[in-house]
Amino acid sequence: MANSECSSGPVTHVFRGTFIHSTPETALQVLEDALLGVDTAGKISFIGKGENLLELSQKFGFNPSDVNQLAQHEFFMPGMIDTHIHASQYSYAGTALDMPLLQWLNTYTFPVESHFKDLEFAKKIYTQVVKRTLRNGTTTACYFATIHTDASLLLGQIANDFGQRALVGKVCMDRNNSVKHYRETVQESVDETHRFIKELLNKKYPLVKPVVTPRFAPSCTEALLEQLGTIAKNNNLHIQSHISENIDELKLVKELFPDSETYTDVYHKFNLLTDKTIMAHGCHLSDKELTVFRETGTSLSHCPNSNVSLCSGILDARNVLNHKVKLGLGTDVAGGYSSSILDAVRRTLDASKVLTIQNPQHQTLTFEEVFRLATLGGSQALSLDDQIGNFEVGKDFDALRVNVAARGGPIDLVQCKEPKILLEKFLNLGKCQFSAYLIVVFKHKANHLTFYSLFPPICPLKGDDRNIVEVFVAGRKVVPCEDLALE
Ligand SMILES: [Zn+2]
Repeated sequence: MANSECSSGPVTHVFRGTFIHSTPETALQVLEDALLGVDTAGKISFIGKGENLLELSQKFGFNPSDVNQLAQHEFFMPGMIDTHIHASQYSYAGTALDMPLLQWLNTYTFPVESHFKDLEFAKKIYTQVVKRTLRNGTTTACYFATIHTDASLLLGQIANDFGQRALVGKVCMDRNNSVKHYRETVQESVDETHRFIKELLNKKYPLVKPVVTPRFAPSCTEALLEQLGTIAKNNNLHIQSHISENIDELKLVKELFPDSETYTDVYHKFNLLTDKTIMAHGCHLSDKELTVFRETGTSLSHCPNSNVSLCSGILDARNVLNHKVKLGLGTDVAGGYSSSILDAVRRTLDASKVLTIQNPQHQTLTFEEVFRLATLGGSQALSLDDQIGNFEVGKDFDALRVNVAARGGPIDLVQCKEPKILLEKFLNLGKCQFSAYLIVVFKHKANHLTFYSLFPPICPLKGDDRNIVEVFVAGRKVVPCEDLALE
């Protein structure tokens, strides 16, 4: 390992131990007995060898006795990136998984999302989802909110307050025949999107940015899609939406957009496929459509929990990678019931193995490749790989401190293992969920949906049974975080 460094502000933290990350060339790179310095701006100022401690301490002006030494079974890995999560749907995560997509949206999603007009309710749910995902090791989240501008701005504020890096999207939709009060006119959607972008950017949150968010083609008219493509272009913004998740959805898109040859064409026509666009799912995209993704720089978010939970399909992630389309992982809460990217890692491996069972010629993804998808791949998918995704000098220090042998934790180690084995054990067995879940009960009364929600207090955590010991975003320790009562 060569020493690498960049000139930046004074070094504020130095860690010594094992660092595991990915590079574009190598799915898994292990740096043992490494020294990593973080500067006042939260950026990685140097990575060097432990044996060069004295030299580095003189060069970067830190005291060798201030170095934070990792324990034997600890390592640092890059923060995990959730490239697709509906913050509003966290309110019913873990329930309502008994229908395919289109019925699921009409029955559960739209009625619940319409409640986010109520800012108190929005504050409660958005605080929970940001806290929960941070504790699960999600340092960057690409969020869908709802159509409500003020509640969406609130989500941005909460992510900023807790220190999570986030792309936040006010949802745009001018078609909804099932819950008619949960939709906008084209003009409302355009005006409110402008207001959302302007007000969020005016806050100057360092880690939170707006993302243009047409819900998906069936919820939007051509007129709205066209306007949103223009807004994204004029403001050089990210775009997020859904594509080719479910077969019935594909048929509906064909009916609604008869002039478009494919689902991909619908978005392409309105300039919604750019190198800052991330589309969720893509289970049923053709190779021809994947080629358009590559040519436009559009990326995909693979959400295997959701794809199985709603019986939507199984994405052939290997084929996506072979087409050189950028790929990250998403939880797609609440179509996916888990808000943890560790769960997405496991289900990505499962999905790939199912494809191998169906076709022994299929080249199964390795855990190293999926680790890369959860970290560097996510950063590439969100076009943030110049800032985050691995431990490259000059990038922000977004990182998880993992203790595989946490006392009371779920992993029993027989003997000291090499770092690669520790990582594999953590990815497959590590504790990523905590005990407190909010409970939401739905009750239908004729055509009226009654919505009950119970919010049990967050259970006190033992503090020693977790494998993710600390979480850093841009050098700031956000878990544990006493000042914001995150624990
Ligand atoms: Zn989704």
